[in-house]
Amino acid sequence: MHNYEAPADLLKDRVILVTGAGDGIGKAAAITYARYGATVILLGRTLQKLEEVYDQIESANYPQPAIIPLNLESAVDKEYEDVSVQIESEFGRLDGLLHNAALLGPRTPIEHYDAESWNKVMKVNLTAPFLLTKAMIPLLRNSQNASIIYTSSSVGRKGRAYWGGYAISKFGVEGLMQVVADELDDSENAIRANSINPGATRTNMRAHAYPAENPNNNPAPEEIMPLYLYLMGADSVGVSGQAFDAQPK
Ligand code: NDP
Repeated sequence: MHNYEAPADLLKDRVILVTGAGDGIGKAAAITYARYGATVILLGRTLQKLEEVYDQIESANYPQPAIIPLNLESAVDKEYEDVSVQIESEFGRLDGLLHNAALLGPRTPIEHYDAESWNKVMKVNLTAPFLLTKAMIPLLRNSQNASIIYTSSSVGRKGRAYWGGYAISKFGVEGLMQVVADELDDSENAIRANSINPGATRTNMRAHAYPAENPNNNPAPEEIMPLYLYLMGADSVGVSGQAFDAQPK
């Protein structure tokens, strides 16, 4: 699906929530989804970045987006319920959910990995997608064939030295995706859930993880969007519980 070509109206009238929409892959996904017709809900922790994405979408004359500021590191159950109430009252449903936000955390051996960092990484990368999924399921049920995408990593499929909590959180994300996919498959308006490993992509997170690397050797986030479109749009109806790679291996 790296070469998937989406029809121009693929996401027309769809309401899609993207976490970590202010930067990197999440920003590219939000703008891309809007370009294909979606009303995008931009969720993230840095309001200024979300506003910049909002302005970019508006000035391109794509459907007017919405902004939900939320820090996934500190957010508690009640704040997720508030998000649900806000989306319910504004849109009445949710057609797509891209769990994209994540924290890299320290790149260090488990022997030296501090517990505070572990807790932060787990909170943002795994607990937040769990709580958000839980809060959004009733709204996703109001949609015809809703899609949930979880963001994984190659180290979330095979463990690798020094990737610590980040790698382990991504294994958890794959597990969450499989459990959710299995549970929601039989529901009346089947909700599909899949995971994407973006592969090496030119973002701040990649630069932090690989400081010695030439960033220009990696594709920009905009270049890995075909799979993000395929899994969000109607061409993937019936595809669920699967782990995908956004770039050819
Ligand atoms: P970036 O660091 O560039 O962007 C991450 C986004 O998540 C930012 O918008 C950031 O907000 C947001 N975020 C981080 N912490 C929180 C928080 N506590 N609350 C709300 N939002 C938060 O990362 P990428 O774009 O590279 O990564 C996107 C996804 O892709 C992640 O899940 C990552 O694990 C995965 N991935 C990326 C790869 C790559 O090569 N880039 C490879 C494999 C997987 P803010 O801008 O305010 O900091």
